[in-house]
Amino acid sequence: MPQPCDILLTNAHVLTMDQEFTTWPIGAVAVAGNAIVAVGAIASDYAASETIDCRGRVVMPGLVNAHTHAPMTLVRGLADDLRLDVWLMGYMMPVEREFVTPDFVALGTSLACAEMIRSGTTCFADMYYFEESVADAAAAAGMRALCSQTVLKFPAPDAASFEDSLERARDFITRWKGHPLVVPAPAPHAPYTCTSEILRACSELAAEFGVPLHTHLAETALEVDTSRREHGMPVVPWVAKQRLFDARVLAAHCVHVDEGEMSTLKKAGAGVAHNPTSNLKLGSGIAPVVKMLERGVMVGIGTDGAASNNDLDMFEEMRLAALLAKGTSGDPTALPARQAVAMATRIGACAAHFGDLTGSLEPGKRADLIVVDLEQVHNVPRFSRDAQAVYSQLVYAAKSTDVVDVMCDGRWLMRDRRLLTLDEEALGAAARDVARRIDAFLIRREQSVLQKLVAIGGAAEQESFEIQVKARRASPDAVLAALAGDEITVLRTVHYHQYDTYFFFDDPAQGRLRYREDEFLDDRDRVVNARARLTLTGPSREAAFGSVLLFRSRFFAPATHSPRFYREYFKPARERQVEKDRRRWLVAYRGVQFYVHLDRLLDPPAAGCFLEVKSRTWSRRDAQDKAAVVADLLGRFGAKPDDTIDEGYADLESSSLG
Ligand SMILES: [Zn+2]
Repeated sequence: MPQPCDILLTNAHVLTMDQEFTTWPIGAVAVAGNAIVAVGAIASDYAASETIDCRGRVVMPGLVNAHTHAPMTLVRGLADDLRLDVWLMGYMMPVEREFVTPDFVALGTSLACAEMIRSGTTCFADMYYFEESVADAAAAAGMRALCSQTVLKFPAPDAASFEDSLERARDFITRWKGHPLVVPAPAPHAPYTCTSEILRACSELAAEFGVPLHTHLAETALEVDTSRREHGMPVVPWVAKQRLFDARVLAAHCVHVDEGEMSTLKKAGAGVAHNPTSNLKLGSGIAPVVKMLERGVMVGIGTDGAASNNDLDMFEEMRLAALLAKGTSGDPTALPARQAVAMATRIGACAAHFGDLTGSLEPGKRADLIVVDLEQVHNVPRFSRDAQAVYSQLVYAAKSTDVVDVMCDGRWLMRDRRLLTLDEEALGAAARDVARRIDAFLIRREQSVLQKLVAIGGAAEQESFEIQVKARRASPDAVLAALAGDEITVLRTVHYHQYDTYFFFDDPAQGRLRYREDEFLDDRDRVVNARARLTLTGPSREAAFGSVLLFRSRFFAPATHSPRFYREYFKPARERQVEKDRRRWLVAYRGVQFYVHLDRLLDPPAAGCFLEVKSRTWSRRDAQDKAAVVADLLGRFGAKPDDTIDEGYADLESSSLG
């Protein structure tokens, strides 16, 4: 007497992806409720309400995308072929600050779910902001997900501070723990975006609720170098010291880990998500996947976010994982197709700490499965001599579009390539609308150097009158003598070495941007301190008395990145480097305070020195009073104003001065 079940898939080439890699060239899978009840030659043992003939098709576990940022489908293709810092700080973060809301996250996740279901993924490990909206959208789409709420040391779109984001994570975990499809988790973003306090707090939170912890580890060589410099050790031992592994960790990337770190990951029971496309696209390197697997580390495969991939196609990632392992080792037997499929299913499920629920077709596990059509022309013909051939067929020939049916938790999400839980057309229209708004925002921003400066971290404006005269002197002697005299009172003096990089733009109305590094020198010319800052100087709005009095705006911002970053981000039309030795005095003369600069040009080298007397004020009246005094002060130094000397010494080559 056959037992009842809900759905019976028959005549399929069943890949169970269990520990023994059991396959059934002509097999069946019986599903009751949300669970698998039987797999194998069991078709005649069951009577189902729905029986599906899967002749010519593979039935296998749904794929597990072990690391992604689902909502980032909405920024797919927004900025590509950029270095990680320019891409992240220059584009992703400013756009996220402006646009990421719960609605944005829900829409982006639904779009991602549509794409993932279409390409055979039933389970994904996510990390983003407003993670509750990811959870809602994933559950509505019927997908299984590890939803991890980002915690970092910077203000984020969903939290003003790390305390806020930690509170948000706790709240989210409390409300979603025990959900049939969603496992909530905290996600300390990465060691370099978190403090040790954040790492510890997240680990404690995860341990308290018995949920996993999702993070990025050792993605770039720079991250490892910085960790060695700041903590005296690489990334994995550092986070271990912060007790991160008290939680069940899912670590994305692990591109730059040594053998000791692999052992630590293994001992800690941490899962790793290998993201081959993202690591290649961002030039981060190639993770030592085979070595990690040999040591027993659970290494799954992920797509990472659509901004760095740019799709969520696990078939592509499986193929790339297998090919990269061979290409980098020179060994074509490295990471065989069967292992790649295991990484994308059972091992990935274990890495994301879903191993007891999904990742293989075994009685008792959830019914998360896909049906793949192997009769498409690019899959023809097939051979049965080698039982492994079906895996290489899937990895090297099949495409994600060969997935015809998708089931998660016993529910059909796609039948005959038609999505059942999502409206693709409506999602596409809504996504195109968001893209239009982001486009308009960036187009507006890209037209203005000032807007770009503001976007990467705040610029303080000073709109001021500047009283400024310059002169060239053959020798500093007369200036030094006058400063030593009774007429001028020296209030303060500083000596420094300045490295200026000027960025010029085609449109003079944009002003010019100066990246300045000051090295402060002591009386024996030793560097005692350094600082870097950016100044955007707008064109003069008005000028009087030749160059003595100018009215213009300046915007100051701390320079937290390298000149290379700013060059790639601002894309100046021209640039010029100036290196000089500057002595600066703050003086009082006839009751007015001025700065006196005496510059010696080192690069490009120039004979003699440049004298500059300047002051700044916010009132026209005050400016006029000071302007009247400044010419007199310059006379004290035996000099006359010379309008041809530019602040950036930009005219140097063309003028007779050099
Ligand atoms: Zn990531």
